[in-house]
Amino acid sequence: MIFRILEDQLAQKSKESKEVDRRFMQLALTLGRRGQGRTWPNPAVGAVVVKDGVIIGRGWTQPGGRPHAEPVALARAGEAARGATLYVTLEPCSHFGRSPPCADAVIAAGIARVVSAVEDPNPEVAGQGHAKLRAAGITVDIGLGADEAARDHAGHFRRVRDKRPHVILKLAVSSDDKIGAAGRKPFAITGEAAKARVRDTELQVWQNVEQSYLNLGEAEERIGAAQKAVESAEENYQLARGRFDAGVANIIELTDAQLALTQAQSDQAQALSDYRIGIARLERALGRR
Ligand SMILES: [Zn+2]
Repeated sequence: MIFRILEDQLAQKSKESKEVDRRFMQLALTLGRRGQGRTWPNPAVGAVVVKDGVIIGRGWTQPGGRPHAEPVALARAGEAARGATLYVTLEPCSHFGRSPPCADAVIAAGIARVVSAVEDPNPEVAGQGHAKLRAAGITVDIGLGADEAARDHAGHFRRVRDKRPHVILKLAVSSDDKIGAAGRKPFAITGEAAKARVRDTELQVWQNVEQSYLNLGEAEERIGAAQKAVESAEENYQLARGRFDAGVANIIELTDAQLALTQAQSDQAQALSDYRIGIARLERALGRR
């Protein structure tokens, strides 16, 4: 009898915890959608950090695709992330892209359990993110919310699996398989809901173009600032050089000026490279219009 009661209680508990998992995964999916259409070429991911039933961090992939959702949520959670559960709508990345692997950040934060919606088919990840987490002793549950997540990541999945864009065909068809009436008069087949959906999709595509322009503008500004910084560092260095040669400055002052110049030059190179990336992205985004 007593075993029966315990069994019932256990079953009840596991039912409740599944319900809790579903709720937090749903929140992660909703958060992920905030970035949709703005994170290309990265997928729009959502992440929630939960400890003792309390949400201590939320994050989603930021415009332009960086930072990823996980580090955003983990940063919000801070030290409290130790021992917490992370809900994430896509397998945390395990490769060095333009940012360090999220799997490493999850491990470093001391997360105890990861509930991940779906494996990332990107060959650079493809299960290695989950494996890395497990190897670090983290409990990893995969598959909750997988269908919804796969729909949200359809563009990303298509790109990495088939190496082609995910094409959405907008086609209104009547119940007798017609797409219009005789003659050239406009004829409404769908209703408000379908129209709103199409507007949303078009908006997402346009947001990519718009975001690319914004990123490019920022990169341009940074090039200008970097150029000025290099000029001023060069001037300082010449000055320090002269002072050193004249015996009024020591070697430390000269070395500092030299270091500052090298730093400014490397910042300038970075700004130029970001600008080139920006141009390529804009071209691709315009191609996708
Ligand atoms: Zn990542």
